[in-house]
Amino acid sequence: MYIDILTLFPEMFSGVLGNSILHKAVEKSAVHYNVVNFREYADNKHSAVDDYPYGGGAGMVLMPQPIFDAVAALKEKAESKKTRVVLLCPQGTRYDQRKAEELAKEEHLIFICGHYEGYDERIREHVVTDEISIGDYVLTGGELGAMVIIDSVVRLLPEVLGNAESHMKDSFSTGLLEHPHYTRPADFRGMKVPDVLLSGNHKLIEEWRNKEALRRTLVRRPDLLEKIELTPQQEKWLKEVEKEKI
Ligand code: SAM
Repeated sequence: MYIDILTLFPEMFSGVLGNSILHKAVEKSAVHYNVVNFREYADNKHSAVDDYPYGGGAGMVLMPQPIFDAVAALKEKAESKKTRVVLLCPQGTRYDQRKAEELAKEEHLIFICGHYEGYDERIREHVVTDEISIGDYVLTGGELGAMVIIDSVVRLLPEVLGNAESHMKDSFSTGLLEHPHYTRPADFRGMKVPDVLLSGNHKLIEEWRNKEALRRTLVRRPDLLEKIELTPQQEKWLKEVEKEKI
């Protein structure tokens, strides 16, 4: 996957893309990042990228020219690859795991990180394929949003995580929240690990994990249960969990 990031603050990305799994993904040739300061594409004397809003009002607006030209140049460089152009924007579709899975299937992603008051509307209308918000709050710029999306997409690429199955049981991948985890010691200052996890009985452990994932989802995110189709076995477990004291 090729990921281009258009930003006015390229230094912000070095810590996130240069460490841990996002960096290992480059070493494994699963992904290639290209962070571009779109000021380089401004065709005016002072390399300005923003201007006052028509009609007056507070804040500056990103001009269309640098972003139109930067996106065109990056698409050309990517040759025949199908490109998704993602605009980070609080007014966009709320980001979730389904969108991460969808983007992880693409070959070329371009992220446009805004700043200041916003973008010239023609950028949304003519350049962008997806407008994405990472939540109902306003950030100073799109950089953190782009990093959130890139992190959640890259970990889904084949070969990136050590254990290929490790993201399949994550919260949201299954439609539910994940079950609780425990590690050594079995008794930490009187706080004990559930007996079933020490039993060595894999069938019982699997059943416990399935039920706890349902219990956790029921308590914390009952809205998720309305969006997925449970198997008859899960329906049975859910009824048991509902009957038990939560
Ligand atoms: N005036 C804009 C509005 O009310 O919709 C907000 C602009 S915000 C201060 C500056 C930039 O931060 C946006 O253009 C966008 O790139 C980014 N941004 C802010 N909140 C975001 C969010 N929730 N999700 C994604 N990007 C966000």
